[in-house]
Amino acid sequence: STILAIETSCDETAVAIVKNRHILSSIIASQIDLHGTYGGVVPEMASRQHLQTINPCIAQAFASAKLGWDEIDGVAATVAPGLVGALMVGVTAAKTLAILYHKPFIGVHHLEGHIYATYLSDPELQPPFLCLLVSGGHTSLIYVKDCGVYEMLGSTRDDAAGEAFDKVARLLGLGYPGGPAIDRAAKMGNREAFPLPEGKVSLPEGGYHPYDSSFSGLKTAVLRLVQKLKAENQPLPINDLAASFQETVARSLVKRTITCAIDYGISTIVAAGGVAANSALRAHLQAATQEHNLKVYYPPLTLCTDNAAMIACAAADRLNRGQTSSLTLGVQSRLPITATKQLYH
Ligand code: ATP
Ligand code: MG
Ligand code: FE
Repeated sequence: STILAIETSCDETAVAIVKNRHILSSIIASQIDLHGTYGGVVPEMASRQHLQTINPCIAQAFASAKLGWDEIDGVAATVAPGLVGALMVGVTAAKTLAILYHKPFIGVHHLEGHIYATYLSDPELQPPFLCLLVSGGHTSLIYVKDCGVYEMLGSTRDDAAGEAFDKVARLLGLGYPGGPAIDRAAKMGNREAFPLPEGKVSLPEGGYHPYDSSFSGLKTAVLRLVQKLKAENQPLPINDLAASFQETVARSLVKRTITCAIDYGISTIVAAGGVAANSALRAHLQAATQEHNLKVYYPPLTLCTDNAAMIACAAADRLNRGQTSSLTLGVQSRLPITATKQLYH
């Protein structure tokens, strides 16, 4: 089916038209310049900006796809998780259009969208696979058994991977968003310059959790290093610090992912979410999956971070299975990906 989807869960106003796993148009209006001066997303400003951008984005999505409403089978929007005020703008727009043009409405879980981004670049990909979902708000190992059938096998005890990149970038004066900035700086640095501690999650019975991550200790270690170097009046080796930090995160995430895939006998790994754009993470995943004879997929960089094409792709799968959402379905700031069933009837 052909879906018009809207994504406004955070700081991107995105609208896309997708036919099953094929992108017809994908418009992304980023608010990075707006929030950059504050060093992070300001929720009230995000909602107001979505309101101003949403209609032009919808018009652009139709113009760029060169089709009309008669060819649209359903209207979708991200309903959870995310900033409530921001989600409301996209969901209200989508429901209004669904009523106006007599189309079914499909609410989509944002993380399911991130997983579906991979289908857009690799349409032949099929579950089961293990998804390493690393984004601004999540660090999860999700066993994708089928559409809507998910098992959470690993998570983070504190910061999300993307959050750690953003915080360390701020510490190093690299600006917002931090992930791409650290990735660029790291290319000019020595990843072995500073040995940093890989965060581990202790188990009550002793030992460490094999799949869970922790990034707050690593972040503090970088902070202490920066403070020490500053106290000694030394120039900050930004590139070396960025490379060493990035290397530690990539190594730790890939180790957990491979262990989990082997333990569960899963032969295909998918990396998704903004941090899946990271070059060190990709390099480590490539090497490790090759060594262990596993298949690995990741979406192109532009589909790793937030976009509406991935939301449309997930909605198309739902609609193809006869699943639609009620027009009374509300937005939710938090919702585990294992609870997507409640979005459909
Ligand atoms: P969530 O999806 O959990 O709700 P989000 O939508 O804000 O959070 P995404 O858009 O998926 O997150 O990803 C944004 C995050 O990805 C930011 O934290 C950003 O720093 C990080 N990121 C983007 N590119 C890179 C990169 N090349 N290396 C590392 N991190 C990156
Ligand atoms: Mg974003
Ligand atoms: Fe996201």
